[in-house]
Amino acid sequence: MSSTSPQLPPYARIVAIAGPPAAALAALVCAAAGLLPTLTALAAATALTAAVGTARLVRLALRIHARVHSFGPCRGAGYLGMGVLATGLSVVLLPFAPAGARAPIVSVGLAFAAVLYVIGLLLLPGAATTTHARLRRCFDGVSLGISIAFAVWLLPPQGGMPAAALASALVGSFGLATATVIVLRVVAYRRAAWLCGGGVGIALGGVGAISMILAYRGPSWALLIAAVPVVVSPALILGGAARTEAGVEPAPVGEPESHLSAYPLLTIPAVVATLAAAWHLITVGQFDKTAIVLGLSVIPTVVAREVFAVADVRRYARQLSTQEAHFRSLVSGAGDLTMVVGEDLVVRWQSPAAARLFGLSDADVVGRAFPDLMHPEDAADVLAVLNQTLSTEDEDARPALVPARLRDGHGAWRDTESTVSDQRDIPEVAALVVHIRDVGERRRLERTLHKLAFTDQLTGLANRRELMRTIATQRSVEGHTGALLVIDLHGLAGVNDARGREVGDAVLIEVGRRLRATVGTDDVAARLAGDEFAVVTVEGPVVAYALGTRLLTALTEPYLLPGATVHIYVSVGLAELAGGDGVDDVLRRADLARRRAGQLGRNRIEWYDAYLEEQLVRRMDLERELPGAATRGELDLVFQPILGLHDGQPVGAEALLRWRNPSLGTVLPSELLPVAEDLGVIGEIGQWVLQEACRRIAAWDPRLWLSVNVSPAELAAPDFVSHVAATLVASRLSPERLVIEIAEGRVGADTPTVVTQLAGLRALGVRTALDDFGAAQASLAHLRRLPIDILKVDRALVGEHVTTRQNGGLAKPLIDVVVSVGRRLGMEIIAEGLESGAQIDQARAAGCQLGQGFALARPAPAERFEAFLAERLTQPN
Ligand code: C2E
Ligand code: MG
Ligand code: MG
Repeated sequence: MSSTSPQLPPYARIVAIAGPPAAALAALVCAAAGLLPTLTALAAATALTAAVGTARLVRLALRIHARVHSFGPCRGAGYLGMGVLATGLSVVLLPFAPAGARAPIVSVGLAFAAVLYVIGLLLLPGAATTTHARLRRCFDGVSLGISIAFAVWLLPPQGGMPAAALASALVGSFGLATATVIVLRVVAYRRAAWLCGGGVGIALGGVGAISMILAYRGPSWALLIAAVPVVVSPALILGGAARTEAGVEPAPVGEPESHLSAYPLLTIPAVVATLAAAWHLITVGQFDKTAIVLGLSVIPTVVAREVFAVADVRRYARQLSTQEAHFRSLVSGAGDLTMVVGEDLVVRWQSPAAARLFGLSDADVVGRAFPDLMHPEDAADVLAVLNQTLSTEDEDARPALVPARLRDGHGAWRDTESTVSDQRDIPEVAALVVHIRDVGERRRLERTLHKLAFTDQLTGLANRRELMRTIATQRSVEGHTGALLVIDLHGLAGVNDARGREVGDAVLIEVGRRLRATVGTDDVAARLAGDEFAVVTVEGPVVAYALGTRLLTALTEPYLLPGATVHIYVSVGLAELAGGDGVDDVLRRADLARRRAGQLGRNRIEWYDAYLEEQLVRRMDLERELPGAATRGELDLVFQPILGLHDGQPVGAEALLRWRNPSLGTVLPSELLPVAEDLGVIGEIGQWVLQEACRRIAAWDPRLWLSVNVSPAELAAPDFVSHVAATLVASRLSPERLVIEIAEGRVGADTPTVVTQLAGLRALGVRTALDDFGAAQASLAHLRRLPIDILKVDRALVGEHVTTRQNGGLAKPLIDVVVSVGRRLGMEIIAEGLESGAQIDQARAAGCQLGQGFALARPAPAERFEAFLAERLTQPN
């Protein structure tokens, strides 16, 4: 038993629990065998068990008190202990009392014990929680007790009951009845209550029986038998009380005050009392005073008990209605709609919030299948979720949220999210409870956020992020095709500067509109940044290129804006989505192709390829390295001699530019000049060339002249002529020793400027040469219009096969024509690019006096060129 020390070994515990009752019973047996006087044995046995029981119950009470630190929970055990003490005392005193006083002493002890036991039982945890409830238990017990006492009184032996016996009968009945009521009504720690109630019952019964036997002077063996329950009872009471220690037995859940009515229990004694009264009426015919008093005394106790019950009923009714009002306001004011759905999936009930939240009436919903309320496209999912919820035991396996569209009372579809909880286990509900939340606002917000995050605000096209996402999605499709077009607008910066940003924005918006109108339905058009746009198309290369052409046409149409017409041109780069290491690489490739298209001219479309990439990388390297090449001393000149074709004597030389870069090696002019022009450093480089050339030639034989190439951009510079003049002065070079060459193919639309500048040079005394004549167009008009002293005939015209038709079919080499025209115009002729003896002969035959080419001499650095001169140039006489 837990009242004993838990450290005791098992046998010691058995001795501790069973020892005292066994010893007491042994004393009683000894008395029965005549070895001990009856009353002495009775007193000794009771004293032993009562003392041990009382001590242990008090210790238990102290232990509970020490653990819970409150007076409440321990008091049950404490009062029960006092009851055990009162019981014991009432028997222990018997040997010392005169014979006549024994029965009354026991009756008094019984009364005390009954009161203490009742209090002890009422204070056990789970017996009764409020004072009202306790009083109700007492009145129930008292009315039950009076009914029993009434029946006992009416039954024989008639009228002869001694006062002590009557008192014991009454007290015992009250005590027993009250204990029974308390035990039957207990809602927690039932076993404890049953054990304690059993112990109290047999103690009261035993002591009551001893009192009766003493009053009626019964035999001593009857006393000994009646003492048995008395000595056993402390152990039972202790066993029960020990179970109320916290943690021994958890209290079951339930409404502790649900048993307000005592009628079912009270009917038994009422029936017994009625039967006894009827029997008495039949057999005796009349009731004595005591019977009438007993009968009548039932009434006030029942009335008092009912008054308490009614007060409690009212209080609980008030509590319930308050709670109900709370729940009602919670449910109807909730942001969620609640529906109760039966196992057949038919809606049984919906919360009042339905009308407010969704405009739904009960007629719209109740009695209909839940999935039928949802959008036909969502109904199957909803049905699957509900069936899964119905069939799955595991709560974690159930879907958490069910998204679906619900038709509201106005016929509109509303985005909702539902949670389904299975409450079939709760008898009052026995259904699925669905909480439906309107998430329309959230979805709208999500859509807006998505739009903001993935849309270009100005044009309404997709933005870069969305484009990248689209490419990634398209690349993840098995066996995908498709291409990315990157489109660059040229001229928009000028529009912004000249007409303002509003006009620039209007152009961009119109570009967006034209893009949208041109691309296919599956294509995605996006604005990458500023004036860069892109289109992802799912089509293959041929269709993608055709799309690029259509875009080019659409975007280069004039932009007719209020008060302004804007023209722009575009470059389009194409790359296949399948290539590259990833989305970024696809974009990079299309961008490279776009740059290439831009470099090649206006309104071009270029595909990406690996060679293009190589070229572009090289180009980027050049662009990075070229600025500052002159100041870093990386520029160099080589000199190619120009010789007399008849005597092989050097007459001059052409200065050719070389860029010797540590990482790029020697870069030829054909590669570096376009970069220099694009970077705008051509003027700086040209100045260096001119100064270096003049410096070199000043040191050479005064009969020699040097020609320097200039690009149209250099020539067009307004200060070009004055700069040449200044350089000549600075290097103290006479002007006729300098020749300025301009390539024929590059004399384009700007001819008047070229004419003016060349004329300016001639005015200085500097000679001019038309380079590469015949390489591209061989325009005789150029010969007439340009102020030229020297004509350099390109090797394209020197080949033997180049002939012209004349005089009805006789072929004449074109060079002959050119030379004769040049001579007529008073020009000196140089045949360029002579690579073989045959070409030299042909040039000579055509009438060229001068020649230049690998067959005569290769371009060489200044020192080698000077060595060549020393060897070839005949000294003047
Ligand atoms: P160009 O003025 O016609 O110069 C002659 C080019 O032909 C040189 O190439 C020379 O190496 C090459 N050449 C000479 N003889 C032969 C031959 O027998 N066969 C062949 N196939 N080629 C021959 P380079 O040095 O690469 O110069 C190319 C062009 O770059 C020049 O053509 C000239 O237009 C331009 N250039 C050179 N230096 C400068 C410069 O300092 N400034 C500017 N603006 N342009 C320059
Ligand atoms: Mg040249
Ligand atoms: Mg040339």
